[in-house]
Amino acid sequence: MRSGQMEIIIGWLYPQLMSTYGDRGNVIIIERRAQWREYNVTVLPLDQNSTPDDLKSVDVIVGGGAQDRQQEIVMRDLQGAKADAMREKIENGTPGVFTCGSPQLLGHYYEPGFGQRIEGLGILDLVSIHPGENTKRCIGNLVIEVTASRFAQELEAMTGTKPYLVGFENHGGRTKLGKVEALGRVVYGLGNNGEDGTEGAFYQNAIATYSHGPLLPKNPFVADWLIQTALRLKYQEEIQLSPLNDTLAMQGREAMFKRLKVNLPLAGRI
Ligand code: GLN
Repeated sequence: MRSGQMEIIIGWLYPQLMSTYGDRGNVIIIERRAQWREYNVTVLPLDQNSTPDDLKSVDVIVGGGAQDRQQEIVMRDLQGAKADAMREKIENGTPGVFTCGSPQLLGHYYEPGFGQRIEGLGILDLVSIHPGENTKRCIGNLVIEVTASRFAQELEAMTGTKPYLVGFENHGGRTKLGKVEALGRVVYGLGNNGEDGTEGAFYQNAIATYSHGPLLPKNPFVADWLIQTALRLKYQEEIQLSPLNDTLAMQGREAMFKRLKVNLPLAGRI
């Protein structure tokens, strides 16, 4: 099938409530990079006005960060059939990128610095606890090496190099992983909790991370992985994305590695 005959539907979780720190940039990057390859793209907001069937119809899911209060509102809405639809999508391998507040909600629970525990969907085996308003937030640039094995292999196959992600973190919550695989190992920054060196989580095809940036403009090959994975799953055929000129993004990455004095093996420098 030609790309012009294919469509990718981006499900954007609660755009009004979960778009802190520019995370809508992730939606824009997936949209543009698919359009530049002549795929048809629809962006579908998934919010209080959506039905479980809306959620079931999407090919890739984007969830951004949120303040604690907004997370509570989202979790009040993401219940019952909507929660089941979300679980089904992730379990069935729908790719997605979930940043900061979103993974906290996909875990078992999030305990805010102030107020009641917010129960999560329990799709990811992790818990997140904010130690209190007097504890320092985890803020700053973040560099990770992707260690989630299948994801790392697939990125390496796409780019020919070891995958490193650049981003920016800003969270009070500390995440502890259960049996779920970490997304990566912290090279610079704090990651899940500032203690065990892990960053994010990877489950089925869901990328969970503390990395804003937003993540995808700084690491465009991850956007391509999401597009490719979504199209393969939907059309059940081999998809090869045509290359784009990413010189500027790559120069941006180089500048960050240099500024942070992160010495990557040459192989990480895509
Ligand atoms: N409210 C969460 C925390 O502080 C998430 C913040 C965010 O999404 N940026 O940990």
